[in-house]
Amino acid sequence: MKITEHLSNADKTLFSFEILPPLKGQSLKDLLEGIEPLMEFKPPFVDVTYHREEFIYKKHPNGLLEKISTKKRPGTVGICAAIMNKFHIDAVPHLLCGGFNKEETENALIDLNFIGVDNVLALRGDAPKTEGKFVPELDGHHYASELVEQIVGMNNGKYLHEETETSFHTDFCVGVAGYPEKHFEAPSMKFDLKYLKEKVDKGAEYIVTQMFFDNQKYFEFVDKVREAGLDVPVIPGIKPITSVNQITMLPRTFFLDLPDPLMDELEKCKTNAEVKEVGIEWAIQQCKELVKANVPSLHFYTMSKASATYAIAKEVF
Ligand code: FAD
Repeated sequence: MKITEHLSNADKTLFSFEILPPLKGQSLKDLLEGIEPLMEFKPPFVDVTYHREEFIYKKHPNGLLEKISTKKRPGTVGICAAIMNKFHIDAVPHLLCGGFNKEETENALIDLNFIGVDNVLALRGDAPKTEGKFVPELDGHHYASELVEQIVGMNNGKYLHEETETSFHTDFCVGVAGYPEKHFEAPSMKFDLKYLKEKVDKGAEYIVTQMFFDNQKYFEFVDKVREAGLDVPVIPGIKPITSVNQITMLPRTFFLDLPDPLMDELEKCKTNAEVKEVGIEWAIQQCKELVKANVPSLHFYTMSKASATYAIAKEVF
């Protein structure tokens, strides 16, 4: 079922979450068992992130270069199938521009359609660690809006090769990312919103936000989205801070601010356990306010660890 249908059928804020594929060499069974307790809160959908392949080159004594794949988290599509089979809920794969040319995207969408996926989150992806800025594949997409256009085009029977005979068409519901604190490459919020609007104008039907720790930033973002004339649901992304390391890693990686009252509490913590307690309490207060504001769903960035999300959901739902 489409995310937009889940949202419009709901009479209260829904619970949903995102997981990462396990590291190569780790079992899917552990991941699925790990998230099982979260089924208590009846998530209608679970997002599965996509991690692009990156390469390093090793120089051999003969001077030739060996190309080594460093893909650490394969399996997005397989995990979606496993989630749908095991829990009978929708799985939403993240689909990137980066690492795909249009033909590969088309083929990936056919695979997703054949396994019964109804929704995709269309993203540009980040630059590979070895590159300073995002570079598309040859004949790939530069921006998520172009990916949205391709997916919606396929929904309308438009394939890359005009001779393709179509006796059926896909019907994906497409979500996109939004940034309450602005995407880090955008010179201004107005600039970023212009291109968010482009994604919706091209057919995206809902927005999932980057994590934020100050609800005011989400509320102001939704106001701006509405002022820009967009009426699609804006699902807030929630991430409880659970370790000392995340206090500096999250702002650095995701270009966001931690509010002073949260930092005041975190600075008193000496251990991961203390940080986790503060992080969970902060997220509970955030979520209670968001539920009161009738947001469509609380979408948790679990990083595949369920315990903090479970503790929050238990208090909020
Ligand atoms: P875009 O919407 O394409 O925007 C990228 C930048 O380009 C923005 O600054 C925008 O303002 C600008 N821009 C857009 N269009 C134009 C244009 N026509 N001309 C000029 N500038 C333009 N990454 C992963 O690798 N895997 C994941 O699974 C993943 N999941 C995510 C889930 C969510 C909810 C979020 C918020 C992010 C996720 N990311 C993921 C990270 C994401 O790939 C990065 O944030 C990436 O840098 C931007 O992706 P986007 O889809 O927002 O890009």
